[in-house]
Amino acid sequence: MSELTRGELLNEGKAKKIYATSDADKVIFYFKDDATAFNAQKKGSINSKGILNNRISARFFKLLKEKDISSHYLETLSDREMLVRKVEIIPCETVVRNIVTGSLAKRLGRPDGEEISRPLVEFYYKDDALGDPLITDDHAVVFGWATQEELDELRRQALAVNDVLRPFMLERGIILVDFKLEFGRTSDGTILLADEICPDTCRFWDAKTRKKLDKDRFRQDLGEVEDAYHEIAERVGAE
Ligand code: UDP
Repeated sequence: MSELTRGELLNEGKAKKIYATSDADKVIFYFKDDATAFNAQKKGSINSKGILNNRISARFFKLLKEKDISSHYLETLSDREMLVRKVEIIPCETVVRNIVTGSLAKRLGRPDGEEISRPLVEFYYKDDALGDPLITDDHAVVFGWATQEELDELRRQALAVNDVLRPFMLERGIILVDFKLEFGRTSDGTILLADEICPDTCRFWDAKTRKKLDKDRFRQDLGEVEDAYHEIAERVGAE
């Protein structure tokens, strides 16, 4: 696979650049250190974040594969580069929550840290200009972002990811509080887990101390941001 060459820049997001390759079905993710929060109103950089997120995401995708959950992950190419299958991203971000915090606590006036009886799944419309609003299944279907069958599949796969990652993290002394997933369609229409799974997109709390070990340290100016990403990489065996 090493003869594969990096082609034109297809897209530059907040945390990653995506490059074409000589194979039309594969793209390269380049993980940056740039960090944004609150719909890019807060901007900064976290030293080595790109390297750590590349490693942590690969670790999770490999773990999921062992548990029969496929993803776009193909191969780690370098410190900051990951080879993935090219998919058409479904514009419905899928959030799974095990504990109430963040926007959910605020929106519904629930106490931060509230335990819930089962995981909650939510969809957000992926649109920066609108600030990724919460949507219902009906919005996604009526506006043509996904079919009901696809949404059912996103829900099923997102809960399956939670069933793997939650105990895996707890065995390592970390509570998986919530996380955001993105899914895409392959050329034959199969729904495939995509994007990244890392401290930018998950909330991780230390099980003993409840210390935040994720991007909330950046969002809330809590300090020791880089240390938190290192800590997660170390505890999941990604470095
Ligand atoms: N999340 C994300 N990207 C977003 C919004 C949220 O990765 O654009 C993740 C976030 O890190 C958390 C989960 O999704 O793990 C739920 O976030 P929430 O809706 O509470 O939003 P926030 O409080 O971060 O605005």
